[in-house]
This record gives sequence, C-alpha cells and structure tokens, in this order.
Amino acid sequence: MSVPVPAIRVLPEEVVNRIAAGEVVERPASVVKELVENALDAGARRIDVTLAGGGRDLVLVQDDGCGIPAEELPLAVRRHATSKLADDALVRITTLGFRGEALPSIAAVARLVITSRLAGAESAFTLAAEGERVEGPRPAAGAPGTRVEVRDLFRRTPARLKFLRSERAELQAALEVVERLALARPEVGFTLLAEGRRLLDLPPVRGDRLARTLERALALLGRERRDDLIELETEREGVRLFGLLGLPTAARADASAQYLVVNGRPVQDRLLKAALKAAYGDLLAAGRHPAAALFLELPPERVDVNVHPAKIEVRFADPGTVRGLVIGALRRALAEHGQRTAGRIATAALGAFRPGGPLAAGRTPSPSPPRGLAEAAASYQAPLAPLPPAAPPGASEPPEEVDPRAHPLGAARAQLHDAYILAQTADGLVIVDQHAAHERILLERLKAGLAAGGVARQALLLPEVVELGPGEREALLERAEDLLATGLVVEPFGPGAVLVREVPALLGERPTGELVRALARELASLGSTFTLEAAIGRVAATAACHGSVRAGRRLSLAEMDALLRQMERTPGAAQCNHGRPTWIELKRTDIERLFARR
Ligand code: ADP
Ligand code: MG
Repeated sequence: MSVPVPAIRVLPEEVVNRIAAGEVVERPASVVKELVENALDAGARRIDVTLAGGGRDLVLVQDDGCGIPAEELPLAVRRHATSKLADDALVRITTLGFRGEALPSIAAVARLVITSRLAGAESAFTLAAEGERVEGPRPAAGAPGTRVEVRDLFRRTPARLKFLRSERAELQAALEVVERLALARPEVGFTLLAEGRRLLDLPPVRGDRLARTLERALALLGRERRDDLIELETEREGVRLFGLLGLPTAARADASAQYLVVNGRPVQDRLLKAALKAAYGDLLAAGRHPAAALFLELPPERVDVNVHPAKIEVRFADPGTVRGLVIGALRRALAEHGQRTAGRIATAALGAFRPGGPLAAGRTPSPSPPRGLAEAAASYQAPLAPLPPAAPPGASEPPEEVDPRAHPLGAARAQLHDAYILAQTADGLVIVDQHAAHERILLERLKAGLAAGGVARQALLLPEVVELGPGEREALLERAEDLLATGLVVEPFGPGAVLVREVPALLGERPTGELVRALARELASLGSTFTLEAAIGRVAATAACHGSVRAGRRLSLAEMDALLRQMERTPGAAQCNHGRPTWIELKRTDIERLFARR
C-alpha cells in the first residue's frame, strides 16, 4: 500500500510574511512598539504617536530621525531586509530592531504607508504596501524624518480581529508600550494622541544618564511617589545597575509598575522579575508587587536578544552573576532605607491629624486639597477640660522605672486597645503595633537559628495530615530538605497529602495545616525562586499569629519594655514581614506643633 507523498515547496513570500506577522504583530500595541523602535533606531529626538479605534483603525508614528532613501523604500518592506545588522554573528546587537521583519509583517496584515524624507532632501517619498501589492516610491509632501501610517489592522485576517480586546484595553496596551520605550530613552520627546486626546506628553530630558532616567521615571511613575522610591546605582563585574525602587510599604496588588530595561531595551524578563521578588523577600506579603524602574547595562555580547520575534525576552550569558548582582544590590538599597519607613509613615499619620472629638462632630470634612497640619492645628481650639483627679501617690507606680532617654524606643507607658504600646522617648512618643513587632522579632530569631545551622524543631504528638493539590504536593516534597532547615519535617502521605511530623519549636503544638498549605502554594507558583528565607518568613508569620504578643493580649509594662528592647536589637525592626511598619514615632516638636505651640 502506498501513501501519497506530499511535495515539499518553498512558501510564497506573502504566506511567510503572514506567518511571521502572527508572531510579530499580535495586537495594535505590537505595531506601535515596532514603529516606535524603528524611530528610535533612526536617531529620532521626537516621536509623535497617533491612534484611532484603539489602534485598529490607525496607528501613525512620525519621527524626526534620519529617514529612508527613496530607492530603499521598497527594500524596507521586504522580509529580512534591514539596515541595522552590522554583525552577522548576532553577537553585538546595539539597535532595537535587527530582524528586518516588522514592516513586511505589518504590510501582511494591514495597509501600510511610509513617507520619508532625508535631511537636506528636496522632497519626501512615499510608498504604500498591502499584502503583495507595493506602490511607489513616488514624491510626496513630508517633513524631514519618517512617517508610518498603518490602517485597518487585521481587516484581512478576521480571525485575529476577533481576539482583540476592547478599544480601551488595546489603547491601554499601546500606551504602556510607549511608556516603557519612553523610560528607556529619556533624551527623546514623546507624545501620544488618541481620539483627539493627548494621553502622553513627555518632553526630552537633559542631564547625565542617571539623572535624566530618574527624571523620566518620576514623570511616568508619578512625582507624588518620590518619597516612596529609593534611588539605586551600582556597578560590578562590568554590569551596571541603576534606577528606582519602591519601598515595600508602597507595593501594589499587580506588577504593572515594574519597568525593566536591559541595554536600552524594555524587557519582560523572568530572571529579573524573580530577582526583584527575591530581593524584597519577606518584606512583602504574598501577592504584593514592588514598584521598580530598573536599568541593567552590560556588554552586548553578554546578553542575547534574539530569543523572541517581539524581542521582549533576553537570555544572559551568565544568569547566575546577573541574578546575584541584582538581588545583592537591591537588598543593600532596601536595607539602607529600612529605617526610613517609620519616619515617613509618621509624617503621613501626623498630616492626617484633624480636629476631632465632640466639638468637630458636626463639621463636614474639609474638601481637598487637605489643609496643612499647622492650619489644622491652629483651628483646633478645645476648651480646657478639668484635669482628672491626681492618682494617689504610689498607687500604680511601675515596678522599675526605665529611663526613656536610655533607649531609642524609649520607656513603655501604656497599652492601648490591647494592641498598641505607647512609649515615651527622649524627644517624643512611639506607638508600636505589638503583633507586627513580634512577628518581625520571631522572623529574625528564626533567621539567626538558620544561620547557626538549623531551627529548633519539636515533634508533634499526633503527626498531622495535610491535603494538598497535585502540583503543590510535589513542589513541597521536592524541597523537603530545605524545609527541614526551617524546622519543618514533612513526608509523602498517599497521593494527595503530606504528613507533618515535626514543626519549628516556636510554633508549639498548634495546627500547622495553614502554614504547610501556604508554603506549598508559594513553592508551586514560584518554583526555584521561592527562597528559604521566604519559607522562614511564613513560619514567623504563622508563629506570630498564634504567639503570646499577638494583638488582643494585654501586656504588663515589664513585658512591653522587654518587647521594645528586643525590637532595638532586631535588624530591620521598623517593618513587619508584610512591609507594614511596626512602629511610628511622633517627635515632641510635632506634638507641640499640633497644639499650635510652635
Ligand atoms: P528592522 O527594524 O529589524 O531593521 P523593520 O522591518 O522594522 O526591520 O525595518 C526595516 C528597515 O526600514 C530598517 O532596517 C530601516 O532601515 C528602515 N526603517 C524603518 N523605519 C524607519 C524609520 N522610522 N526611520 C528610518 N528608517 C526606518
Ligand atoms: Mg524594526
């Protein structure tokens, strides 16, 4: 029996382009990205983007770059034709484009018109391309530089059209693309116009590389966030890393405020994202994402950009070094600013002090902008209430007087709502969230235990069976050895469960299911980027939730003072594991200002 043998044929260019278009031009935002990249490669100083119908009806990009010679216009829309690849070995790529695929791919799925004029030329030339049809070049009117118009995207491929999201969503995606490129090139001015609205207007920024990058990053991330951002700049082993890093307390529920740029190219890189996450480690709760604009620069031969047709992924020749360097630099920057949180939050809290109490009850809150502190304080004129009768001497004197001036966190004076400790310091007042503080202390104790060769364990009287999802169970058991170091002993138990035999001694005889399930979930979703430290953080959080100092427990003054002293000895004590502050401070001068004494 003979099977028919299909003949091998070389596909027509039109079909090849359409196949490539599937990868290069996924949605209007991809068109915007390719065209703006071309403008940047052409040395443009100013790039204007106009969109209609979320980019479906029109994407227009006008630049003032070098232009395209008339006789080369037909080549520009030919597949694999590029003016950029000087290095045929693909080792040193310094331009954003190099594959010669974008324009032919766009022409395969839309109507493309390029109008370009060289500097000093009498006139511009224009060329139209749609599918196989190419018209031109012929003389036309046009400013120096290049103007590329793309109309009716995917009109000829209705299947793709169906996959597009709403006009608004497509517009948002396009805006994000321009923002990311604008961040990578602060020296270039950008505008984005859509449906007659100016969505972006970024003038070119001058100054040295770091200064202008920070300026552009602030323009994009929001100037009001300046106080939530840490500046960072470091260089090691030929790798330069600089940018802005969000404080843990300013983390968000999604990763949209993360901008990663490698050698001037915006990327979505898994290694860098994982490194970012690992650097924050237990400073962030699960599901929170730091804001960051990070710029990595290294010799082009040490990074491969030819990984993906859209060029948004990269591979590092030496991923271990890059990962280590990024995590190390970020950790240092975060540690240096670890103490800043407390002060900043206090300012915010102080600013929130408003005239309150019975006098102000009938008053409506002042409309925005909120009134300044001094103004608010000045208008607060409480009538003097009679002082409470003086306590009989010696009635409730603290057993041992702690000198508030002798310790940074002062002397405990009272507990409020069984949850907050009020302490007097040398020149102010400290309020401590006792649960958050306790969690931080436990965490550091566990870390110290780990560093000393292992956390103390305790065998459960009754080993606990914990049921887990399929991926989670495997992920957990794979790391059983690491978990042992945190004091947790788990074994396989049937197809969908594990058996917990021993737990960190700090946990005591408490239900461990919650902890084990959380660990398994994180291990399954984060894989190898889930660190031992993150596991330790989990254990500390769980222990603190059941611990003796948790919120709702009344403490004696001596216990409170003991907690304050432990906090002073604990590194990074100003924050709990979830990035919330553990204490805030009001200076005496601030208090005086509140009462309009200053
Ligand atoms: P690539 O960018 O990978 O080279 P493209 O298909 O995007 O491939 O562009 C093909 C060529 O057209 C480029 O190499 C460049 O020479 C020229 N070109 C495209 N856009 C512009 C522009 N805005 N200014 C100057 N030249 C351009
Ligand atoms: Mg290109």
